[in-house]
Amino acid sequence: MRALPLLIVTLLANCSAPTSLSGPELAAYLEQRCPRVVVRDGVEVHAALDEAACEAWSEGAAHADRLVRQMLGCENGPPVRMYLLDVEVEADLRQGVGAGGFEGLAFAEDFMLLYVPRDSRDARQRAWMRMDTLRHEIAHIHARRLGLAGPKWFNEGLAQELEGSNLIDGEWFAEVFPHELVRARASAQAGAAALLVGWTTSEGLDSDELDVRYALSASLVRFLLERNRGGELAERARVVLTTHPNEVEREWLAWLGALDALDVLARAAGSAREQIRLEASHALPILAEAGVPELLSRRADELALRWLSDPKLGPRAATFLVYFRASALSASDLEGLERGEPLARLAAQVLHSVRNEPVDSAVADLALAALPESTRAELQTILARL
Ligand SMILES: [Zn+2]
Repeated sequence: MRALPLLIVTLLANCSAPTSLSGPELAAYLEQRCPRVVVRDGVEVHAALDEAACEAWSEGAAHADRLVRQMLGCENGPPVRMYLLDVEVEADLRQGVGAGGFEGLAFAEDFMLLYVPRDSRDARQRAWMRMDTLRHEIAHIHARRLGLAGPKWFNEGLAQELEGSNLIDGEWFAEVFPHELVRARASAQAGAAALLVGWTTSEGLDSDELDVRYALSASLVRFLLERNRGGELAERARVVLTTHPNEVEREWLAWLGALDALDVLARAAGSAREQIRLEASHALPILAEAGVPELLSRRADELALRWLSDPKLGPRAATFLVYFRASALSASDLEGLERGEPLARLAAQVLHSVRNEPVDSAVADLALAALPESTRAELQTILARL
């Protein structure tokens, strides 16, 4: 029974397109494979999983659906029909499906499918880990319902913008610096617009080529949305949909080339919204691990050293410095930290340890005791280096 799901993937070979099988044929097959149905809020989940796993997925899906509906301003409307199709073993989920980017698929016939482990316990555990995939596919469904569907670059770019973004007090905020921008910046060159315009099927593309197309799409939609600030997201997206990539290629590539992750994070850290400030601090070690060059610089060190005195931003700034910049810091940087707030004093001792320098355990213990429990919990991984 594995052949058919893989056949479907082969036939479709993309994330949001009409299928070579007719919609009713495909839906009939999925209905037969997914006999259990759970209807909750804005979603209708069909699966072959046990009741507990179905409940977990429908909760996660309803949460994702609610966010996407609010972001696009389409709270009403029929439930999103989704099929959770199992793959036999987890390795298939990674190699056969995930590696090609096919963790889920959305169909023009107003339904979507997600691949889940066959084992209900595994599936249950994964329900809340797949939030980005859920949001991505649900975004395809609602965008299409709103008439916000068009070329593949637009469909995929918009779905990616929605999968990682924030809804704060009813207002949409883009993800601060998604990793797709790093990939797009590294691969963009003249001809990128033509590459996107010509992207109609993913058949024959290897996972690297596919990643580049997704990343370029995400960056183009981000660029165009930023050019059209003001107004509701759906209306801004409608303007993006009417834009031809060839017309904006030069401007888009110049924007991409000038994009500085550190500037973006520093701006976000000054936001009045705590969620955005936290996201900026979380991005610091993540982007450093991805090797983003401006994150591995003195400028980044200075930003992180400043963030150490902020109780919210400090833990991730400490993680960044300990894991990526310990040897780049100067002795006077560490002396400065030793005169600072408890978190800075603690970070100084961890940095001494990582640098194979003498550690003052009494100072570290006192600094740790002065921190709130929640901060201590956030520091677990770097405390292991002490
Ligand atoms: Zn997609």
